[in-house]
Amino acid sequence: MQKYQQSANTEQVYNKANSFTDIAGSTNNSGTLKRIRHLYDNIGSIPSNFRAVVKQACSDIFNKPNHEERLFTLQKMVLAEIDQLEDKNLARYLNYRYRYDIYPQDKKIDDFPPCVQIEPTSICNYRCVFCYQTDKNLTQGKHGHMGMMSLDLFKNIIDQIEGNVEAVTLASRGEPLMAKSIIPMLMYASKKFLAFKINTNASFLNEEKIHALLSAEPNTLVFSADAADSDLYAKLRVNGDLDKVVSNIKLFSDIRQKHYPQNKTIVRVSGVRYSKEQHFEDIEKFWGRYTDQVAFVSYNPWESAYDAQTNNIQDHCSDLWRRTFVWWDGTINPCDVDYRSTLAVGNIRRELLTDVWQGSKYHNLRNLHSNKRRCEITPCNGCILV
Ligand code: SF4
Repeated sequence: MQKYQQSANTEQVYNKANSFTDIAGSTNNSGTLKRIRHLYDNIGSIPSNFRAVVKQACSDIFNKPNHEERLFTLQKMVLAEIDQLEDKNLARYLNYRYRYDIYPQDKKIDDFPPCVQIEPTSICNYRCVFCYQTDKNLTQGKHGHMGMMSLDLFKNIIDQIEGNVEAVTLASRGEPLMAKSIIPMLMYASKKFLAFKINTNASFLNEEKIHALLSAEPNTLVFSADAADSDLYAKLRVNGDLDKVVSNIKLFSDIRQKHYPQNKTIVRVSGVRYSKEQHFEDIEKFWGRYTDQVAFVSYNPWESAYDAQTNNIQDHCSDLWRRTFVWWDGTINPCDVDYRSTLAVGNIRRELLTDVWQGSKYHNLRNLHSNKRRCEITPCNGCILV
């Protein structure tokens, strides 16, 4: 299978914020902008602790139409998220989103990261060709990376971040719906965040899990798929069965229509642009029948972070200012490109997330990146994320 040309050595970079190369689905742009305008006109009425950030976000949106690159803009995916929100949550959302988009560019942090990814389990039933699950150094039991998060640990994380973080994603190295406690986890996190998302390959969807997902009503539910025909799907998503996944997603749609007609979750199929055998229009048409959005993320060589040759990228990595990962055993890791956790910055079983985020290990990593010295760190030295 021929991959799209993408070599770390040519200094081709991967920018997470711009990694969605396509997204299909409708948004109510003018309605959303009117709501934000109203908020801007009444800026004095929003809580003082995030008024300045929201004011800057609104100013970027309305006052600088010929925006420079760093200015805050509303991407289609963000507009869709705002569409679901009640007016009373708009300021909170903009406060989060501005920090998510702009703080990495300004190299600024505050008490908590804009986004936290929680890993209910590191175990996955698939071995996708572009994924680190193909690396036995990750999956073999003797390396100690495989496991499932306890419900108590999950609750501890949620309690720490509720009210401080708006973007929470249940996913990292494994398939979240394989976690033993996934249903109570969903229930516990439900309605506590404004950008609550779960990613799944949909192979473990069943009636019980579908009801749990629909009751918990995450803001976004992402089904990962990159093909519209069974052969290519099985080639990319090794161990995957497209017919099974489609029938699970149809069941999800049926249950949603019948029992949860008011459910506001954005359902997205998201695939990786990886092979010339993929026909994106067909994929979009195929999956668009079952979901609200279809998106493709650019390929980043996730599966070979430690083997990549050192590159000459000197720009800092946005993840260090944007998000953090908490893995099933409580390890706090700055990213999942480093899936073997060589850069671990703490453990939430022993430390508070806010302390780790503002602590010396993170500070040292950020310093090296800020001073164009990421080449001194593995796997940052071969990573293309900026
Ligand atoms: S390996 Fe380094 S550069 Fe790559 S995503 Fe992780 S922290 Fe960023």
